Amino acid sequence: MELNALTAHQLLKEIAAGGSGSRDIVSGLVARNKQLNQRVKGYVRLDDSGESLIDDRSSGSGVLKGIPISVKDNICTKGLNTECCSQILQGFKPPYDATVIRKLKQAGVCVFGAKTNMDEFAFGSSTENSCFGPTSNPWNLECVPGGSSGGSAAVVASDQAVWALGSDTGGSIRQPASFCGVVGMKPTYGRVSRYGLIAFASSLDQIGPITKDTRDCAILMNAISGHDPLDSTSVDIEVPDFTESLTGDIKGLKIGIPKEYFVEGLDKEVKAVIEEAMEKLKSLGAKCLPVSLPHTEYAVPVYYIIATAEASSNLARFDGVQYGLRNKDLKQGLIDMYKRTRQEGFGQEAKRRIILGTFVLSHGYYDAYYLRALKVRTLIKQDFDRAFRDVDCLITPTSPTPAFRIGERIKDPLKMYLSDIFTISANLSGIPAISVPAGFTRKGLPVGLQILSEPFTEGMLLRVAHAFEQNTPWHKEKPKL
Ligand code: GLN
Repeated sequence: MELNALTAHQLLKEIAAGGSGSRDIVSGLVARNKQLNQRVKGYVRLDDSGESLIDDRSSGSGVLKGIPISVKDNICTKGLNTECCSQILQGFKPPYDATVIRKLKQAGVCVFGAKTNMDEFAFGSSTENSCFGPTSNPWNLECVPGGSSGGSAAVVASDQAVWALGSDTGGSIRQPASFCGVVGMKPTYGRVSRYGLIAFASSLDQIGPITKDTRDCAILMNAISGHDPLDSTSVDIEVPDFTESLTGDIKGLKIGIPKEYFVEGLDKEVKAVIEEAMEKLKSLGAKCLPVSLPHTEYAVPVYYIIATAEASSNLARFDGVQYGLRNKDLKQGLIDMYKRTRQEGFGQEAKRRIILGTFVLSHGYYDAYYLRALKVRTLIKQDFDRAFRDVDCLITPTSPTPAFRIGERIKDPLKMYLSDIFTISANLSGIPAISVPAGFTRKGLPVGLQILSEPFTEGMLLRVAHAFEQNTPWHKEKPKL
């Protein structure tokens, strides 16, 4: 296999054996980008020279020495454009690295590609809301790669990246991983520092890995997890070696199947793939039990109140003064400059969310919407607490449908919002969840299996996901490009 198609753990072996070095790996990726980026458009701001694709200015000499990583455009990289694929952040080069980037650089990783495409400010499920235009799904270029971390998932799936970082507020790592046939994990809220992640909804956001297999996911989790005094919501709890969970043994594990996830609206082929996955897990010695998460139906409305409320407050800082774009017409004064800058700089979906969020927080509506949503959020969390008294983890489809066509849902925001129905509850509850490749539809589109477990038990997710992966062929399939 070409170097660019290998996983990080395979590359580390190559490097240790003296076979290839970091330069060879980067050249392999550059060649692949030249061949594919025009079609997949997973990277934004790529120039042809190749050299500018890599930022190895401060690469340390740790355990991941020589392995490049691709990074979503909302994670701060010192001196390298970080614009959340929004015009309002045009030209913004952060003066510091996000904690995850600092940790990775210390481990010897360099940032590759400048950077991966996303929905503007991570608002979306298709990567169509990017000011750079949409990314295509490598399995069918007419389909979306999912979102909002669609660029990260697409470049990993098409071997234009070794692995990547995404962010997940309501499913933005898991849903694109599922659509593109790769592994994506949203860690427990507080497991990975959010310092340097440009905030969308601070009580829901987490950074996490998008990788070619579960071993890489465990290795990347080892590198980015841990307490950070710079993020007050980061939790000071021991980080296990996640690779130790890759035992392959799931005998006797109790897996819950939430009945609320197998209802109308679930695509028949997706359902069949998940049922087959269930049989596979049983054949490996797990027991599958029905469970109920009765408040599931409220997850989407609750999320779109809380997430937009937090987004409207977080986005208030983009006013043309401190960052990015500024409307230069100052004749009408400062307030007018703010207005013009925001009008020009934000895309349609960002404006919709700011208006919605401002409304639910406004005097007179705060109790009816925001406060009530917070209460229902607690009920959703309690559903999981109850379920985890009886089972070790839960399995569900990651998304109710496979990848849809570019343009198909963009004019119907409600339909788009419903794409996240199975991923949102994990963010509202703070629990970890992973998506692993579980099969394909007849038309050759990937389908992901979602596994969820208790806070700070990412090891459990990796254990189940790895056992499933090692006993199925899905993660080895590659799109024909
Ligand atoms: N698709 C969801 C939204 O539009 C989730 C996005 C995310 O996780 N960043 O808000």
